[in-house]
Amino acid sequence: MKEIYPWNLSAWQQLQAQRQANRLAHAYLFHGPAGVGKQDLAEAFAASLLCQQPAADGSACGHCSACQQFEAGTHPDNLILVPEPGKTQIQIDPVRELCARLGLKSHQGGFKVARIEGAHRLNRSAANSLLKTLEEPTDNTVLVLITDQPSRLLATIRSRCQGLRLAAPPAAGARGWLATRVGDHDADLLLALANGAPLTALALTEGEHLARRQAWFDQWQALIDGREDAVAVAADWSGADNNAPLEWMSQWLMDLIRLQQGEHAIRNLDLLEPMQDMAEDMDPVTLHNLLEQVWQALQMTATPVNRQSLFEDLLIAWTAAGRPRRRRKHA
Ligand SMILES: [Zn+2]
Repeated sequence: MKEIYPWNLSAWQQLQAQRQANRLAHAYLFHGPAGVGKQDLAEAFAASLLCQQPAADGSACGHCSACQQFEAGTHPDNLILVPEPGKTQIQIDPVRELCARLGLKSHQGGFKVARIEGAHRLNRSAANSLLKTLEEPTDNTVLVLITDQPSRLLATIRSRCQGLRLAAPPAAGARGWLATRVGDHDADLLLALANGAPLTALALTEGEHLARRQAWFDQWQALIDGREDAVAVAADWSGADNNAPLEWMSQWLMDLIRLQQGEHAIRNLDLLEPMQDMAEDMDPVTLHNLLEQVWQALQMTATPVNRQSLFEDLLIAWTAAGRPRRRRKHA
C-alpha cells in the first residue's frame, strides 16, 4: 500500500474526517507541484475507500480480498485513467468509457473510485463528457482529478471539484525526510535541483540522472568555450529518450539570469563557480531570448518535430552567445 508522506498527512486526515462524517465530495481536484506525491495520496485514498476492513486511521488493511485485488490492479470498482505515453491529450473515448462504468452499480457494493492523472490533458470534448458525470454524480462514486497545472482545466470542471492543494513541505522537513533515503548524496543540492519537491529530489538519485546532467553541463560549457561542436552535441542530446537536456538547460539559463541579477540562491548549487564565470560576460537580453527559445522547444517536442534540428538551432544560438567569453579567454 502507498505510503502517506508526512507532508501530506493533514490532507489525508481531512479526507478521512470527511469520510467518517459521510461528507465525501463526489469529485476532488488534487493539485500542486510535481514530485509531492499527489498520485500516491490519490492511490492510498482509493485503496482506503475500497478496503473492506480499513484501519482506525482509514488506511487500507492491505490483506482483505478488495486490497488484494487493488494491489493486483484487478479491482473492478477501481478505475484509473492516465494519459497514453507520447500523447499530449486525453481523448474523449476513454473518458466516456470511464463515465459509463461510474454510472453502473458497484461490483462489490461499496464505493466506485476513479482517478484521472494529468487531468489538464483532457481535451475539450473529453472535458465536456466528464462534466456531465460531475453534474449528475451517482451514489458512492468518488472521482479524483490530479494535476500540476490546474489553471489548464476548464473552469466549469474546477468549480465542480473540491480542491485539495498538496504543496512541497518546508525545507527542513523535506531535508530530514530525504537525508535518510539518499545515502551519500547532498540532500540540500537535490532539493534545490528539484525546487523543493521531495519525490523529484529522490528520483534524481536513481539511475544515471545526475551523471548525465554533469555530462550535459560539461558539453554545454565546452560549447561556449569553443571546444565542442553544436551539431555533434545536438545529435547527442536529441537522442535522449526524454526532454531532460532541455529542462536542465532551462534551469541553467535561469540560474545565469539570477547570478546576473546579483542573486546567489541558485538551484544548481554545485555548479556555482563555473556558472559565475559564465554569467560574467553573457548579454542579459541574449540569455532571456535563449530561455524563451528553450521553453518554445520544450513545447514543440510534444509535436511531430525534427529533434535534431530543434536542438541544433538552440545550441548554435548558445554557442554564439559565448562569443564575448571566448574573446575574454583568448585575450
Ligand atoms: Zn483491505
